[in-house]
Order: sequence, then C-alpha cells, then structure tokens
Amino acid sequence: MRLSLVLPVALIVLLSVVQFPTVHSQSPQLIPQQGFGLNRSASLTVKIVFLGITPDELNSTYLKRNVTVPPLKYQTILAGPLNTGVIFSFNYQLVFADNSTVSSFARYLSSIQREENTFSGPLTPSGLVNPYFTNSSTLSMAQNYFYDADKVESWLGSNMTLFGGNPVSGYTLFVADLHSYKIPSFNYTEYQNYVTPCRPCTPQAVQAHYYNRTVTDPDLGLVMYRHFMTGWGGSSRFYYMDLSAGPSYWTNELPVQVASQLRGISTSNYYGKLWMSKFVGSYVYGAVNNLFAPDQLYPVNYSQNYNLQLFVLDNRTAAEMSQGPQLTATINETMIQQNLASLVPFAGVTVHIKFANVTDYPGLAAIMANATTSLRDLISGRPIVDGDLVYNWFTTSGLGHITNFINVTRTTSTIDVPAFLFAFKGNYTFGVPVKEDIGSPNIYGTFGGEALGDMVLIGLSQQADFTIGNNSTYGQGGKGAGFTHDAIHELGHMMGLNHPFIYDLTEDFTNTVMGYYAYSLNFSQFDRDSILRGVNDELLSFALQALSTTQNTLFNAGDISMANQNIAKAENLYNTMDYAGAVQYSLAAAEDASAAQQLANSAISPALVFSLIGVAIGTAIGILLGYLLFRRSRPAGVQYNRCPTCQQPLRWDPAQMRWYCDRCQKPV
Ligand SMILES: [Zn+2]
Ligand SMILES: [Zn+2]
Repeated sequence: MRLSLVLPVALIVLLSVVQFPTVHSQSPQLIPQQGFGLNRSASLTVKIVFLGITPDELNSTYLKRNVTVPPLKYQTILAGPLNTGVIFSFNYQLVFADNSTVSSFARYLSSIQREENTFSGPLTPSGLVNPYFTNSSTLSMAQNYFYDADKVESWLGSNMTLFGGNPVSGYTLFVADLHSYKIPSFNYTEYQNYVTPCRPCTPQAVQAHYYNRTVTDPDLGLVMYRHFMTGWGGSSRFYYMDLSAGPSYWTNELPVQVASQLRGISTSNYYGKLWMSKFVGSYVYGAVNNLFAPDQLYPVNYSQNYNLQLFVLDNRTAAEMSQGPQLTATINETMIQQNLASLVPFAGVTVHIKFANVTDYPGLAAIMANATTSLRDLISGRPIVDGDLVYNWFTTSGLGHITNFINVTRTTSTIDVPAFLFAFKGNYTFGVPVKEDIGSPNIYGTFGGEALGDMVLIGLSQQADFTIGNNSTYGQGGKGAGFTHDAIHELGHMMGLNHPFIYDLTEDFTNTVMGYYAYSLNFSQFDRDSILRGVNDELLSFALQALSTTQNTLFNAGDISMANQNIAKAENLYNTMDYAGAVQYSLAAAEDASAAQQLANSAISPALVFSLIGVAIGTAIGILLGYLLFRRSRPAGVQYNRCPTCQQPLRWDPAQMRWYCDRCQKPV
C-alpha cells in the first residue's frame, strides 16, 4: 500500500551511477594532516540558531564536541582520488533566539498556514494522501498543516539581522522546535495510538505540520506537489530545519517531541541534556556534510569553456511520435545553459542540442534493439532497456562509438560534456542487471539518468514521463515531464556535484536540482559554493605543489613572487567566501607557478648563463639580464597553461594532481 503511494514520486526521481546508502553513523576521528600531502586548510563557521530550543534544554559543550558534530572534513571526491588536499575545519557558534523572536516567527507561520485533512487512502484518484499515515485500522484522519517552504525561507532571509547575520566565512543552520509555540505538531499520544497494533481499534486522528511547495515541469507542464518536507533552504547561505515537523514518509525521522518521550527523556536532568545535544548534533552532522562542505562526486575541473553537447534521440513508435509531444518540446536549452552557467561564472557555457531519430544511426538502432528487453522491473513493473549495453556501445572503454557523435576534449580551454537523451516507447526505462536476488524488487534496478564520468545517459518514456499526466494518480490530461530537469541534474553530477542527502535524508529538502524530492530546476548556493571552492582548490593546490617542488633560481624569482602574491589575493577572497572573485587569482597563481617550474627545469642552467655573460658584469646585472631574457611576455588577456614541448593546452589530471599533455602523453 505504502509503496504504491510512494511510486508517483519514486518514478520520476533519478539514480546516479554511484549509489550510496544513507549513512547515519558518525564520522571517524580524522588523522592529523601531516603525512597525507595536504597543503591547504580552510575554516568554516557553522552558526546554529535555535528557534524554540533554550540553552537549558541541552549541553552546549557536549553539542560542540567532536563526538557529536564533525570538527574537520577532507574535501572528499567519491569517484576519483580520495580528496583534493583541502581540509575544512568547522567552528560551531550557538545562538539562541529570544522568546519574542520565536513567537513572531511562529505568528508568521500561522499567518501562512494551510490545513488539509487526509485519510488512509485518497478520496479521489489524484487526491492527497500523507504516505506516512495510511494505516486504516488505527487512523481516522490526519490533520496536516502546511507552510509554504519558499515563504518561510524568505522570511528568515529578510530577518537575518535578528540573529546577527551570516558568518563572514560560513553558514547558518536554523534548528527549530515549535511544538510549544502554537504550531500544530505530532505528539507522543498520537504516535502511540497510530503505531500500536490492536484489534479492534478505535481509529484516532493525528496532527502534524510540514513545509510544502508546488513545482511545474518546465517542458511539458506537469504540476507536482511536494507536501511533506521538514526543512528547506539553499537560495542563500542558510538552511532551516524544524525538528518538531513531520513525521515525513520521505525521511522516516520522528519529530523531537515524539522521539524524546519515546526514549523517556527529560531535558531537566543531566542525561536528558546530553541526549538532546546528540539528537540536534546528528542533524547538524547531516547539514554540514550534505550542504556546507559536501563531497564532490567527480573532481571539479577548471576550464575556460564548458561545452555541453546533448543528443536527444527519438526511439518511440511512429504512432507515439505523431501523438506528441514533439521531441523539441521536451527540453529547454536556455534553461539548461543558464543553470549550468550559474555554477561557473568565470567561464563560458554553451549548450548544443541535436535532435535525431535513433534510426538515423544504424549501429545505434541495432544496439538499441538488442538492449530493449522484455524483462520487467519488479518495483515499477516497467520493461527495461539495458543501460550497460548502450553505455558499452558509446564509451571509449567499450566499443567507442561516441566518436560518431563527438570528439571529446578536456583541457583548460574547453571541457566537452556529452549527453545522450533517449525518448523510449511505451513505459520503457533504463535498467541495469543487479547481483542481488533478481527475484525480489530492487530500487537500484532502474534509473532515469546517470552521470558516468565520460558521458550522461538519460532515458525517459512516452507513457511514464512525457504523457504521465494522463495517469489517474495525476489527473492532468496532456501534461508530462520532459528532459530539462534530469539533464541539469546529471550535468550537475558531471561538474562534480553530489546528491544533498548522502549523510542524512532531511537535506533532500533543499532548493537544488541535485535532490530527488524537491524537483527544483536550479542549483543551490551550497552547490555554487562547492563548485567554485573546487575550482579554486584545484588551481591553488597545483600552484602550491608546483612551488614546493621548484628551486628558486635567478630566472624564475619573478614568477615565484607573482605566484605567491596571487595565492595571497586568492586566499583573502576565498576566506570571505568570494569564491567567484578568487578564481582569477588562483588561475594566475597556477600559471605563475607553472612558469616558474618550467624555467627551473630549463636546459640553460644559471651557471651556463653566468659564464656566457661573464662574471665581471656582476650579480645585479645578471639578474636583470636573466629576467629580460627569460621572463615570459604576459599578454593582456587571461593565459592558460600550455605544454612546454608542443604548446597544446594542458589538461588538469586530478588523479596525479598535475597538468598533463594529452598529445605528448606525459605530465608536465
Ligand atoms: Zn543523481
Ligand atoms: Zn605536449
């Protein structure tokens, strides 16, 4: 019962190729950085603003301890080298909003409150159900109270001064408990009534509150309701979570007032305060690891241009093609360009979309026919197109037919990102073989899209996506969902972003296209910070490593000095979170350091030069001459690293943490 209610949402979420289970465990203690070759550290303040939680309900010292919240985190890369060499250290600041501030916030919530009762099943086929409360033997009615998530976020954003503003370098986390502020909340008695099995029972009513939003697919107009959130944020550098909200079926986390009574906790005694600190800390842990210092999925790579090459390939039946929608209506080039450009403001972002029929490519048509199986996914009941077979046909580590479509370059001047987007017939979906019990349902058996590192694959279908509004659970005839949302999501992975719910599910309620639940089209401020930090980290790490292995000579002293000045400028901006402004200095530092390294390795040694110009001329003139002879001329525009042997633009190789020449097949 519950599963089928989850499905309308589950069907349109995406699975990344790298699928990590949700981890609730605490981070292990980190080993001090010596010996790991780390060369940069950055400090981030995490300002926790409590709304409705008072200092005497918890133990602030215990909350800030390393056993409760993470003290440090490497900038991890999940698919690639382990980390970037950057380590973040977190300073926790606790602020307790006064009673009148919390009261005025609660009054604001009441003023935008919407109420809707739900029952164990929908009253109409497309009627609302709270998927957490579907047990007809114990539930008479769920009284749901909804607050518009965007309005709540903008109230907090415009009242930041009440809480002392955002840290100069860091993020604000609002942690609310509003159950004693006249916000209708799920309580322990209702919980007991609902979960206690009894026969016969008198079904009882429950109350709960949530944050909600309504979104519309930009291509085909399907309206989607996202009712059951317990947190929200991402438009700027703060996140809001309400521990008294819920329970939400999406996270399965109990509100604090229920969880504490379930454990028999009283915050008036010593242990109760420790328990409360740990409870809050486990949410802080999620926000820090998912949002404030998230993992990178792939290494973030600097380039002057990001060139997104999308091939939208129609594999529908002739009847479906004439039924519509037309392929060109299923994707929005402008929206993809604008959102990806928001991640890399220092670079050019171009999007090229080519529309074609699969039959235009006979080889592709043949492999698609092979991959289109009669196997069915056991959860959704949908037939499977074998994604691995299709990927193998394209990838250069397989049959390599991607070269029929695009010659991919990855250099500091251009990074090409190829994507193949399929329109399947019927309700086909991409699927992959799984080693688990193939007779039992497995949520990892199918995917809407995947970011594979060298390309994106997306598969949507006529029935389950483009015309899904015709389905009675939607009741929106003629409406559907197109490629744009999924394309931005997968391209976000290719840029390096991960999902925001790896460490805790609450942060899936974030205003970002990288989540599953919210169906946002835009990236969050956390995403933008993560990418721009990553770009600076890459360039600065290179500069620092190059300088540390370069001998200071007569000829490169100028470059070394320039590199150090640019590093200092970049770090200053980085430390005030002007990550976008820092990029030009990080880039200049990398170029200067690279030049210094090349000069130090030059075949003409200082000794030889000295003998040529004669010792009598003296050191001062020698330095000047050396500088004039060997100083690079610096053009007015931005210069990019080129191979000293062949002058090809260099590619940053994150695995080796150095520049690599693809033509000469060697690192520089
Ligand atoms: Zn994903
Ligand atoms: Zn070369």
